[in-house]
Amino acid sequence: MELFSLTVHATRDLLRTKQVSPKEVTESLIRRIERIDSAIHGYLSFDGERALKEAEEADVSLPLGGVPIAIKDVISVQGHPCGCASKILQGYVAPYDASVIRKLRAAGAIPFGRANMDEFAMGSSTENSAFGPTHNPWDIERTPGGSSGGSAAIVAADEALAALGSDTGGSIRQPAALCGCVGLKPTYGRVSRYGLVAFASSLDQIGPLTKDVEDAAIIMKLISGVDRADSTSLDAPVPDYTANLEKGIKGLTLGLPKEYFVEGLDPQVEQAIRTAVAHFESLGANIVEISLPHTEYALSAYYIIAPAEASANLARFDGVRYGYRADGITGLLDHYGKTREEGFGQEVKRRIILGTYALSSGYYDAYYLNAQKVRTLIRRDFEEAFAEVDAILCPTSPTSAFKLGERTGDPLKMYLADIFTLAANMAGICGISIPCGLANVEGSKLPIGLQILGKALDEGMVLRVANAYEKSTKWHLARPELGNAEKAA
Ligand code: GLN
Repeated sequence: MELFSLTVHATRDLLRTKQVSPKEVTESLIRRIERIDSAIHGYLSFDGERALKEAEEADVSLPLGGVPIAIKDVISVQGHPCGCASKILQGYVAPYDASVIRKLRAAGAIPFGRANMDEFAMGSSTENSAFGPTHNPWDIERTPGGSSGGSAAIVAADEALAALGSDTGGSIRQPAALCGCVGLKPTYGRVSRYGLVAFASSLDQIGPLTKDVEDAAIIMKLISGVDRADSTSLDAPVPDYTANLEKGIKGLTLGLPKEYFVEGLDPQVEQAIRTAVAHFESLGANIVEISLPHTEYALSAYYIIAPAEASANLARFDGVRYGYRADGITGLLDHYGKTREEGFGQEVKRRIILGTYALSSGYYDAYYLNAQKVRTLIRRDFEEAFAEVDAILCPTSPTSAFKLGERTGDPLKMYLADIFTLAANMAGICGISIPCGLANVEGSKLPIGLQILGKALDEGMVLRVANAYEKSTKWHLARPELGNAEKAA
């Protein structure tokens, strides 16, 4: 078996027992990337020389000693470019490590490469990257989802052992579903956001994309916890997420929200989820129908709150401090205007305009304030549901991977890709997507994701339920054949 195809835990075991060296692992990944990434375009860049040097110095006795982890282009790694797949940050190099990177380094891991994404994490297909889209390894004519599409695609295509992504409305879970890997969005505040370029600060979380549930648990344990540099990080003990993985789910109550099985849900996705639910029942779980009555308002409220926060967060990109600066300017306002006009892509500008409008005087109450009220109702829906159930089961995405270009002309259609994921961000709870089937679409086999939602700080439960499913099924072992990717590379 090739080293690039291994999980993090398998690699770590080989490294610890000195059966392979960190350098061999990194070399294997670099060769893999050089062979296929021109067809996938999951990486924006990587510094192979630097990674090899860090591999030579790695201490394999540490928990992740010598294990390379790929990083979404929105998370700061000292000395690496951090461009958020935007032209406006062209040439910007991060001067410090994000807290998650500091923690991963302390565990011996090697931050490796910059994973492609939708510009500033706004999107659901990675087509909003200023540097061209990532292609889904299961069918390179399709999107990997987004915004962490690069992270998901490189894990699925064995170009990374694992990756970090960020999730504001679904950006870890939805691409994980569309690429057939595991993606975990932690509870808001569980993981420090220090060093994550902010999109919507009250919704953003960093989390892992991995090949199996155990790897997600390992990385979660290392990156979680309170951080003085992020005042929204939660001061709660971090459990050993790997310790309870094998506990099983006998006697647990799992809820099926009736609002998530509605029109617009692809029949093959629905079938796969219903089969997974039956499997949970056979493992000893009690399945009950629940209601999350305000689900239908989540999308509209999200698309007020997220752009409102984005419009404020992105004000700092003015051509003075970072990256791109327009030529031929005549004064300060012209400087701001031209730099932002040329530096930001269409979707980012759409969000800034929407957000500025929603926050402007006279409209604030009608839009932003109302959206915040809806947010409270959504949070209460989940609180009531979790009084009855241990976790919630539902689809991650209403469809499997869609074609590149299919939704770029219709923002609303694109926004609907996150209809099942964004409520968790609004409520601040945690959720995971795991592979649970393959759809047959026009001759392609495309992964389907099962979403498991848990209450705030209950990542341990979500991982345990996910692991019970994974250990008794084989979907997580399915790999893309990469037929057309290898040909195209
Ligand atoms: N697709 C959603 C959006 O465009 C969510 C993005 C994300 O989670 N970063 O806002």
